[in-house]
Amino acid sequence: MKNIYFDNAATTFVDGKVLDTMLPYFSDEFANPGGSYTAAKRAKKAVEDARECIAKIIGAKTSEIYFTSGGTEGDNMLIKGMVYSLRPYRNHIVTSVIEHNAVLNTCKYLEKQGSSVSYIPTDKYGFVDMNRLKRSINRHTAIVSIMMANNEIGTIENVEEIGRICRSMKVPFHSDCVQAFGHIPVNVNKLGIDMISISSHKIHGPKGVGAVYIKDNLSIYPLIHGGNQERGMRSGTENVAGIVGFAMAAKLAHEKMTDNYMYCCRLRNYIINRLRKEFDDVMLNGPDCTMEKMSGTRLPGNINISFKGVSGYSIVDELSKRGICSSSGSACSQSKKGPSHVLMGIGLGEERASSALRLSIEPENTFDEADYVISCLKEIIKQ
Ligand code: PLP
Repeated sequence: MKNIYFDNAATTFVDGKVLDTMLPYFSDEFANPGGSYTAAKRAKKAVEDARECIAKIIGAKTSEIYFTSGGTEGDNMLIKGMVYSLRPYRNHIVTSVIEHNAVLNTCKYLEKQGSSVSYIPTDKYGFVDMNRLKRSINRHTAIVSIMMANNEIGTIENVEEIGRICRSMKVPFHSDCVQAFGHIPVNVNKLGIDMISISSHKIHGPKGVGAVYIKDNLSIYPLIHGGNQERGMRSGTENVAGIVGFAMAAKLAHEKMTDNYMYCCRLRNYIINRLRKEFDDVMLNGPDCTMEKMSGTRLPGNINISFKGVSGYSIVDELSKRGICSSSGSACSQSKKGPSHVLMGIGLGEERASSALRLSIEPENTFDEADYVISCLKEIIKQ
């Protein structure tokens, strides 16, 4: 049976070059970077080179990058760390209704501890309501957290505008860039973002590693205390192999970004157009990237489509039987049956939200694979 992977927003395979770069750090170069002998210094240098690589890609200083275990930790670290350092004077958070659960559940946790949270609505495409955002910020706001690109519907938010608003109101701005990083340019200076979280496994790097950027004038309360690694911001022996692999994955993604972007957009639009042609009752969820004026507002690899009257979970199951990996929402919410908070958040009714299928593609996916997936979908929907 064919094995076709169309779930690249959930995770990606580790690139061969990335793996080769990592392997020595599991064997010959296993030293703890905290040591003072030569092998330890080599491990330390590998971590610092990786830091420099990530910093360069996002237009930051090396002193502004801290390695983490991934996007979830990064979101927790930045939102909690900022609130903990500013409360009780500033104990209010502004975020959106379509954030990843790493942000939303962190906010809910902080609400239980006495923080107040404004959840900003979006329009039907998933674009955050800028007026509501502006009106929600007040002198008690500790942080604004709005994702750069949505993991379910691919909407690319206008973070540059949000950065301008936050700067003018002197409020720190965090953006979860987990889905954006490596796929579209993320330049923290150009975009005016104070903090970002990124993750390695979405860009053909290993799982369990990521990074945060924290603008160097910001003071954040660390969540993990211990041996003061990562300049006291995140104690714990560094995941050297993971960090080195992450930097290599980031470098490769950055080098091939334009070609990858163009190819994925073509494949994405081909699939959307064919689905619209082959099925009477399909609806694209998120920005209509096949229209010229919306072409740059959706992640190149994201397709989210509803088939009227058919459950998204059963489509995913049926595709799986035919060797196709897909999803009906975010990987982290697959265990929680029920319509996605993102699709409900953009105002879809329960029926349309429950009939959604997410296909997330990457440059190794082919047009032949797309044709096979569409022919399987025809069979499944007819059934
Ligand atoms: N934020 C977004 C937008 C994501 O898509 C994900 C993962 O799906 C995360 C955060 C969590 O990242 P990680 O899996 O590295 O913890």
